[in-house]
Amino acid sequence: AVPTSIMVATGRAAEMGVLFRKGSALQTLQGATIVALDKTGTLTQGRPELTDLHVVEGVDESSLLSTIAAIEARSEHPIAQAIVRAAQQRKLELPTVDTFDSVTGMGVTAQVSGQTIIVGADRFMIESTVELGDLEIAGKRFAEQGKSPLFVAFDGQIKAVLAVSDPIKSSTPAAINALHAMGLKVAMITGDNQVTAKGIAAQLGIDEVVAEVLPAGKVKAIEALSAAHGKVAFVGDGINDAPALAAADIGLAIGTGTDVAIESADVVLMSGDLRGVINAIDLSQRTMTNIR
Ligand code: ADP
Ligand code: MG
Repeated sequence: AVPTSIMVATGRAAEMGVLFRKGSALQTLQGATIVALDKTGTLTQGRPELTDLHVVEGVDESSLLSTIAAIEARSEHPIAQAIVRAAQQRKLELPTVDTFDSVTGMGVTAQVSGQTIIVGADRFMIESTVELGDLEIAGKRFAEQGKSPLFVAFDGQIKAVLAVSDPIKSSTPAAINALHAMGLKVAMITGDNQVTAKGIAAQLGIDEVVAEVLPAGKVKAIEALSAAHGKVAFVGDGINDAPALAAADIGLAIGTGTDVAIESADVVLMSGDLRGVINAIDLSQRTMTNIR
């Protein structure tokens, strides 16, 4: 009777747009005690917008924006696309970029007109020995508003702080409430700024936050959550989520996410949001209760 009810359940799940890769995933999911969620693209729309641009005295805003947009046009990060779109909206002409390098979890660096430019998180500036000066406070203020601050330095001198804001998916708050109602703990894992992450988590009632993790650190974060709470279900969408999807007791990929994430997951959610997670857990709990 066991295989039959699991077959029926995975069939029903598929009709709801929840694809269980193997029957055992249904069983494992039922045992999860904590659900860890990636932030960007999973909790949020993954389409940030540039909301603020604060330059130091004497710096021309348009010229700075056109330079960093030219650099970010080489990056595939959602933040980069926000900056490029902002420059397009202002119809700015982009300068030629001579060299480009992307530093995972940190930002980007490039040579433009003989200057070395870096754009990225505060930790990227600190690592590059750039003093943030007054812009540190401006950045903190953006983070407190749930925005992600990005800093810009030219030849080691801080020139600007920008903020991007990534709206929360409208279905996210109800999904988190539903997880709590099922007796599950909810965690968030992100490479984003600590203050930004904490603010968003507080707004959503998320129990635990692991922020400023480098892509390789997501696996460590899963292991730590597992040691503290028991079986972990991880939900993610990005390339940088693939190792964590594989490392979690059960990995659920958002179907609108990247191929690498989908390939690494035990469960694929065809809907672009967290409602599939609720359906998957609900179905796994009901199926396993029937079997017992
Ligand atoms: P996440 O997608 O969860 O924010 P990432 O590891 O991709 O995690 O990025 C971590 C941080 O590194 C970002 O929040 C941002 O501050 C910085 N960063 C990454 N890529 C870029 C980029 N192309 N331009 C500017 N900053 C970037
Ligand atoms: Mg993501």
